[in-house]
Amino acid sequence: MSETIIEMKNVSFQYEYTQVLNDISFQVKEGDFLAILGPNGSGKSTLLKLLLGIIKPMAGEIKLFGQPNDSFREREWIGYVSQKSNAFNSGFPATVEEVVKSGLSKKVGLFKRMPKDAKERVHQTLKSVGMEKFSDRNIGQLSGGQQQRVFIARALISEPKVLILDEPTVGIDHENVQSFYDMLATLNKEQNITIILVTHDVDTVSNRISHVACLNQTIHFHGYKEDFDSISQEQLDKWQGHAVRKIH
Ligand code: ADP
Repeated sequence: MSETIIEMKNVSFQYEYTQVLNDISFQVKEGDFLAILGPNGSGKSTLLKLLLGIIKPMAGEIKLFGQPNDSFREREWIGYVSQKSNAFNSGFPATVEEVVKSGLSKKVGLFKRMPKDAKERVHQTLKSVGMEKFSDRNIGQLSGGQQQRVFIARALISEPKVLILDEPTVGIDHENVQSFYDMLATLNKEQNITIILVTHDVDTVSNRISHVACLNQTIHFHGYKEDFDSISQEQLDKWQGHAVRKIH
């Protein structure tokens, strides 16, 4: 049996006047590849912020690797790539190698020395996202999809056990989205990295994921991808307000 590494139990959250999440309970196990679906404003980013410990729930409990979120210290086990990572303009003064190396500060502390093998680790990590040939390039000169791969490498260099991605394919050309998801599937299978992906591309990603969660203030469905496939479009529309379209 795989270990439960993320657990939310009866979690609720509201901003000053807006109830955003209501009685959320779900678990993620080691090795899962979970897609979180939901229309705009359904609370997806808020849910990720709760997991990352940026905000705290008003009610309920969050556990990471069996520990309460408040006392969880091994933050480097959780890599996060935001939606806005791939927005560097062509003048941004950092090479791909520098960007990826900066991810090591999470592990070694901001003012401590970089490990001697930092360069080799950057190379190996870039290789795992198919970007090793670009290490000397300026980050701003890469395409949106290439930049996003570099930011995944930056998250991966501190050897996380979980990778959380918030709509990572926004700004990536349609032709490159498939190979982007292939890369995530390889990280999931070959390095056993648990992946939590907020996405709208349910059809494109559907043959790579193991689990689906449908969020809209509460979790309407969380389960195996095969069980998600048997849910009717009509039911999904009720939960998701027409935000999720199944093609098959
Ligand atoms: P999603 O990521 O699914 O688009 P969010 O979690 O960003 O949804 O937002 C959920 C709801 O919370 C929205 O109604 C949004 O307007 C509101 N919201 C988000 N951030 C804040 C904030 N900092 N203060 C007040 N309301 C917010």
